[in-house]
This record gives sequence, structure tokens and C-alpha cells, in this order.
Amino acid sequence: MARKSNKDSKKKKRKVPKKKLCYFCTEHFVAIDYKDEDLLRRFMTERGKISPRRNTGTCALHQRLLAMAVKRGRHIVMLPFVREYFR
Ligand SMILES: [Zn+2]
Repeated sequence: MARKSNKDSKKKKRKVPKKKLCYFCTEHFVAIDYKDEDLLRRFMTERGKISPRRNTGTCALHQRLLAMAVKRGRHIVMLPFVREYFR
């Protein structure tokens, strides 16, 4: 009982996404200024959440620094915790 190979039909075509470079690495950031509102807002969603690494391409180290900077920015009431009017 020889069965025909089904290998070819099962092959999935997956696009390999272009790898994004970390913005902070390319700009040689050592620390992220939490008072730099414009910069931090680029890495936040419209609702004021910190954008995930998979969307921005930030590396692990800089994502950690970024999260810290955003949280500090929120504490000094420069950045929003949430934006309600985007509902
Ligand atoms: Zn980086």
C-alpha cells in the first residue's frame, strides 16, 4: 500500500519579515532621557501604552531602558497613563 507523498501540498509559504534595527542602537544611545517627550511618544501607542518590541524593533536592553523612561515620564505627569478619549 504505497501512498502518494503529500509533502508538497503541506508546505507553508511564510514571508520572512525584514528585521528592524533598534533605533537606539543605531543612534548610539547609552541612556534614554525621560524628559524627551517627543522621543518617548514615538515608542508609545495612541492610547499611551508602551509599544511592544515586535512592533518597534527595539532591542531587549533598550526596551528595558525605554520602559523605565516612559514610567518615569508618567510619574512626572509628562506622559499619560491612559488616554480615555480614544475609545
Ligand atoms: Zn538597542
